[in-house]
Amino acid sequence: MSDCLFCKIGSGQIPAKVVLQDDEVLAFDDVNPQAPVHVLVIPKRHVSALNDAGAGDQALLGRLLEAAILVARKKGIAEAGYRVVANTGRDGGQTVFHLHLHVLGGRHMNWPPG
Ligand code: AMP
Ligand code: ZN
Repeated sequence: MSDCLFCKIGSGQIPAKVVLQDDEVLAFDDVNPQAPVHVLVIPKRHVSALNDAGAGDQALLGRLLEAAILVARKKGIAEAGYRVVANTGRDGGQTVFHLHLHVLGGRHMNWPPG
């Protein structure tokens, strides 16, 4: 999508601190971190939100989760624990409408979330 911030990051048009990537997914540091480790994992292809992921996106969703695990290992938080979040829609608090997983760690996470 031409006017989408995360499409532009995914294609390299807008710079980001890349943590890892492959042909389908990109992980980069969140610009406004809410924890010592705060990384976003996106598909390079535009998908607006979880609600727009269809039956043909099963493999992509799996790759996003797999990338989240690799990010946690690479950032050294896998053993201590971390949180993976997909804010979805208005009540979910989504502000960027290109699907992304937040990988948060490096401190204890509270429950319930705000
Ligand atoms: P959400 O509220 O779940 O849609 O999350 C959007 C996230 O994108 C927020 O945590 C923002 O801090 C983050 N964000 C916005 N613009 C950028 C950017 N240019 N680079 C990295 N992260 C960004
Ligand atoms: Zn997009």
